[in-house]
Amino acid sequence: MPRIYLSAPDIGQAELNNVLEAFSTNWIAPVGPHIEAFEKEFAIAVGSPHAVALSSGTAALHLALRLAGVGAGDEVLCSSLTFVASAAPITYLGAKPVFIDSEEQSWNIDPAIVTDVIERKAKAGRAPKALVLVHLYGQSADINPIKACCDKHGVKLIEDAAEALGATYHDKAPGSIGLAGIHSFNGNKIITTSGGGMLVTADAELARQARFLATQARDAAPHYQHSTIGYNYRLSNVCAGIGRGQLSQLKQKVARRRAHFDAYATAFKNIPGITMQPEAPWGKSTRWLTCLLVDPKKAKVAREDLRLGLEKLDIESRPIWKPLHQQPIFSGTEYCGRGVSDKLFEQGLCVPSGSGMSDADRAKVIDGMLQMLTK
Ligand SMILES: *Cc1c(COP(=O)(O)O)cnc(C)c1O
Repeated sequence: MPRIYLSAPDIGQAELNNVLEAFSTNWIAPVGPHIEAFEKEFAIAVGSPHAVALSSGTAALHLALRLAGVGAGDEVLCSSLTFVASAAPITYLGAKPVFIDSEEQSWNIDPAIVTDVIERKAKAGRAPKALVLVHLYGQSADINPIKACCDKHGVKLIEDAAEALGATYHDKAPGSIGLAGIHSFNGNKIITTSGGGMLVTADAELARQARFLATQARDAAPHYQHSTIGYNYRLSNVCAGIGRGQLSQLKQKVARRRAHFDAYATAFKNIPGITMQPEAPWGKSTRWLTCLLVDPKKAKVAREDLRLGLEKLDIESRPIWKPLHQQPIFSGTEYCGRGVSDKLFEQGLCVPSGSGMSDADRAKVIDGMLQMLTK
């Protein structure tokens, strides 16, 4: 029996056809027709006027922060409960992250804490330069109150929607509301290009600058001339072809992941000590990963026992993100919180959720977990 992964790539014939087309037309380069088409189709899918295809979500965030004007010594607020890539680009620019705790309703950044921190810092005459607002595990943060406070104090709002493609916030797509948003097409994300990312924005000049910086900041001259330092961050035309095929199946992929979540939720409904990640009232989660909490006082086994037990069955599961304020690399970094993300990390587990996972494999995961939780 093959291993059951947390979130394996789920690839179809359309992707293969697009790759073959790239080969037969010799567009094996970081330029080509699939890139332009992918950008257009993606912009429409998320309701954002401009989309720039890039080599990774991390690269997209690096560019977004630089174009937001973040520089050495600036403070940038960031969700603590997230993948390290949400904060790493802050440090690329010599800026200082300030980590903010989660709320219990969506596990995303707590609007009360973040607005309090912005007000306090603004009053002291040093408002943060930007905020990296993460939409975790497929679910939007509560953007409106946060955006209002950012706008009031000139804090640039950058949305990290790497995990939330296909989600909604009221009637909008998270990632398309702030100054810029970023998406990821890493192998484990809701759609994949094997590796890649997208920057979206309503600001035409920001999109133009992002393209410019992503292609080594080459000035308009017949020879190679440079007046600033750029990066090599563009996506390959081959990968964009994969992305177009994937994007055309986004609705189905979201539906499949939500079906996995519902099946887990039904199976664990009456199991003491197990609670599923809630879905906040302001939008629809993609359930990128099904996450649940294991209360060690009420459940028969602790989170880590459950994870190790699944591993014995060759099933991959993972603790939820270790908060960045607990990471060795960020020790001593400013953090504002009330212990919510710490508790989520202690008790949280992500279980197999890939859109390509079969009903039979999902049943195997559920059976394995129920055995441990009811023995
Ligand atoms: C995956 C991810 C990223 C980084 O995307 P890459 O394409 O892997 O560089 C950033 N933020 C979050 C929250 C992610 O999950």
